[in-house]
Formats: sequence, C-alpha cells, structure tokens
Amino acid sequence: MKFRKKPEWIKSKLFHKEKFGKIRKTLKNKKLHTVCESALCPNINECWGGGTATIMIMGDICTRACRFCNIKTGNPRRILDPEEPERVAQTVKEWKLKYVVLTSVDRDDLPDGGAGHFAKTIRAIKSLNPGVFVEPLIPDFGGNIESLKIVLSANPDVLAHNIETVERLTPIVRDKRAGYLQSLKVLENSKKLRPDIYTKSSILVGLGEREKEVIKTLKDLRNAGVDIVTIGQYLRPSLHKKFLEVKEYVHPEKFEYYEKVALEMGFLYCASGPFVRSSYKAAEVFLEGVLRKDKS
Ligand code: SF4
Repeated sequence: MKFRKKPEWIKSKLFHKEKFGKIRKTLKNKKLHTVCESALCPNINECWGGGTATIMIMGDICTRACRFCNIKTGNPRRILDPEEPERVAQTVKEWKLKYVVLTSVDRDDLPDGGAGHFAKTIRAIKSLNPGVFVEPLIPDFGGNIESLKIVLSANPDVLAHNIETVERLTPIVRDKRAGYLQSLKVLENSKKLRPDIYTKSSILVGLGEREKEVIKTLKDLRNAGVDIVTIGQYLRPSLHKKFLEVKEYVHPEKFEYYEKVALEMGFLYCASGPFVRSSYKAAEVFLEGVLRKDKS
C-alpha cells in the first residue's frame, strides 16, 4: 500500500475535539447524529466552534458502502424514529440557525428511500423556525422520481445531491447502487419539477480523475441545471483497506482553476479548495444572501 505524504496545505487544519461541548451536548440530549464527526470533516472546528453542524437524519447506519465514506454500513431494518423531525426542528431553534443542511445515510431498506421522513423534517423545521432556509442533501432514492417529488413538496430552499466523482471512477468510488447518470437525473428532475429551487452538487478530487474529466463533470452538472457546486480534496478516513487511497493531493492552484472554469460555465457559485465539503459555510452564507434577496 503506497502511503502518500501530506503536503503543507493539507496539514494546517486538524481536528480539535475539545472545542465542541455545546454542540455535542445538544446532539446527545436530542439523540441526533451529524455527518461532521463520522465523515472526519476538516471544517468541524469552524462549524461546531461557530455553533452549527450538519444534521444527519435517519440514523447512522447506511445501506450502502462507498469507498471514500467513513459512515457505518449495515441493515437498519426499516427502523425510523418518528419523533426525529420534531427534535431536529427544536435543535435548529436552540442553535438559532438561519441556514440548515440536512443530510442522511442511504436507506434502500425503506420503500420511499426515506423521502417521507426528509419531507416531515423539512416541514417541522420550517413551521417551528419561520424564515429559516433548509438545504436537504438527499440520496438518489434509487432514481425514484416519486420520492424526489415528496421531498420537493416540502419546499426546501436548496436541493443538494452529490455526484461525488467523475463518470469513469463512479463504479470504483461509489456503492454499486449509485450511478453517475442516475445522480445527474436526480438533479435534472429536481430543476425541471421545481425551477424555483436552487440545486447543488459536490465533487471529491484526488481519486485518480483527470483534469478534463472534472471539467466534463462540471459541464454535465451545468447541463442538468445545477446552480451551485463545491469541489474538495478526498481525504482517506483511515488506512483500513476498504477505503480508497489518495491518488493525488490536488494543488490549491488547480482548485482555483476549477473554480474559474465553473464560474465561466455559469454556475451561480462555486467553492473549490482542499477543505471544501458539500456543506460548506461560505456557500451557505452566499446562498442565504441570494435566498434573502429572492424573498425580499
Ligand atoms: S451513500 Fe455512500 S457516501 Fe452516502 S452515507 Fe452511504 S456510504 Fe456514505
């Protein structure tokens, strides 16, 4: 196994668990999960230190096993906590959030893939916290458009779904039930069904993709009507062999180049950098600004 030495620009932001008392206490009391810790997100300091976190609904066991993801894989046996939507809404109120990112594990064990639970949670948040913006980062629901319609019927402000990597690497990087064209279709259908809702996606680089493949993926996302894109460096969760090795630590200059290309393609916003993740503070601040203007 080749171990790639981390360059300077990756070493700067490491994990400081001691800063997270308030967030961790709330999550524990409310029996809620976040993706921040399990995904070893490099931005956890800023977010948790700033009193926000991306809430993960529907438990912490995923029915899929993508080879870049540190979340537990298994069979959640169709278990869903009916009180979770209310507890999430309470937490949003307690954290005084203005912009909420809701993510989830994949629940292929549920008939609607969890779409109904997503919709209930969005509605609960919006009724208890009028004026708050909600961005569900959804699974592909196995390409089921009826599930997508259920989530959209709850009027999220932004609909996010991650394409994760370029077409050639998708079968290697993502679970076999995921698909490059299937994910593009989720985003395209969302824009067709609800042109008033912004769409967003995310690409991880450093997995062996070529520059022109990343450009092609940006073009495909743009053609699917995607408004916002984030591009970040893949960081291996651990040396466990289930995780793919880092093929390249992409230089910050290349991230800048991808950002420039994305904006020239007409994306409303692109956050691109080694530590950029799909739920990224700067993008949320930008979106909050755009959404507030739209509503005024
Ligand atoms: S679908 Fe893949 S990326 Fe998403 S939580 Fe499951 S294993 Fe992780």
